[in-house]
Amino acid sequence: MEYNHLLIRYGELVLKGKNKKHFIQKLENNMRKALIDFPNTKIQAKRDHMYILLNGESAEGVSDVCKQVFGIHSFSLALKVENEKEAIKEAALAALEKESGQTFKVTTKRPNKSFPISSQEMNQILGGHLLSNTEGWVVNVHKPDVEVRVEIRKDATYITSSKTAGKGGMPVGTAGKSLLLMSGGIDSPVAGYLAMKRGVELEAIHFHSPPFTSERARQKVEDLAEKLTRFGGKITLHIIPFTEVQQKIHKEMPENYGMTIMRRMMLRISEMVAEKRDILSMITGESLGQVASQTMESMHTINEVTNYPVLRPLISMDKLDIIDISKEIDTYEISIRPYEDCCTIFVPKQPKTKPRREKVNAFESNVDFTEELQRAVDGMETVEFEGSRFSKADVYNDLF
Ligand code: ATP
Ligand code: MG
Repeated sequence: MEYNHLLIRYGELVLKGKNKKHFIQKLENNMRKALIDFPNTKIQAKRDHMYILLNGESAEGVSDVCKQVFGIHSFSLALKVENEKEAIKEAALAALEKESGQTFKVTTKRPNKSFPISSQEMNQILGGHLLSNTEGWVVNVHKPDVEVRVEIRKDATYITSSKTAGKGGMPVGTAGKSLLLMSGGIDSPVAGYLAMKRGVELEAIHFHSPPFTSERARQKVEDLAEKLTRFGGKITLHIIPFTEVQQKIHKEMPENYGMTIMRRMMLRISEMVAEKRDILSMITGESLGQVASQTMESMHTINEVTNYPVLRPLISMDKLDIIDISKEIDTYEISIRPYEDCCTIFVPKQPKTKPRREKVNAFESNVDFTEELQRAVDGMETVEFEGSRFSKADVYNDLF
């Protein structure tokens, strides 16, 4: 007897009171997209659990998907059988036989009170059946290696044995949208991932500077964006031509303030894009003290140009911990491909680690960047990634 269902337990969203329905619907939609490669699966979302009918699709493959999607606390492969004693006995035995260990217990729940046998009686019937049809297993009701759970519901009985942890978090899309400033580096994709974990839907913005940066650098960022779609939903990536702005900074601003001013320009452009796209915040991969632009003074000076919230999920994390996450989410190998992004190329030899607002404002007041910023936004290209179904044909430029 093979597993035919998967039972999903919701994460934190069960605490959400009136919004619960909305959260469950989002999770259902996200699951539907994530299961695109398993077209025969059927999803049934209920108040307390979600069920996936495998319909012949691989239990292992669908389990792997469930490990990636935010909003799932845990899940179990399940056998669904009719509400009939012999069928339940057979399935409980099949479930135990799939497990390894020495001790077990059976826990029956009977929300369907019209089923004629009580939970307590079912525990005894099933326990006896398992003991007399297996070898080496004994009952331990306090700390069993395996708990065979039997849930007799109205429509059918579900039998599960092992439980796998999900990623937790909230379904992507339940916490609104944010604009992720995404370089090709290690940090920003991890920052995006952590924001998604709290239910944030992402749009991403990338600044590139052709011909100083190559097509491959851009490709890196597209590959990273696509990787992130595995955690739920679509990602829209905006690519901004940044060469003109960078050259002007390079030419007309003091070299040691180039980095600070470049970051301010990035935030200004990001705000223009966020405003047009109805996005209320931005995300960066900054971590306090990691590099010159990430000191308290730098953030104070850079952040001055926007009053949008700038979320920094990595702010207190060590680089090694960030690298661990990037390996876990499979972005690390893409991030370390050796193609420079716009910052590395124009980076000053000795960037200011304690840039001051007054100074930068004085420098910027002598040079007008308005037209360059507008041209950068006008030249933006947008690409949409929707899981593995991304195609270049989705590229379009006429958003505004
Ligand atoms: P990352 O690993 O994300 O590149 P980093 O440690 O290299 O980060 P910086 O280069 O100082 O740090 O960049 C800080 C943040 O600024 C990045 O995490 C990202 O959010 C944003 N950023 C930097 N370069 C770009 C770019 N070319 N396009 C979009 N955002 C960028
Ligand atoms: Mg970087």
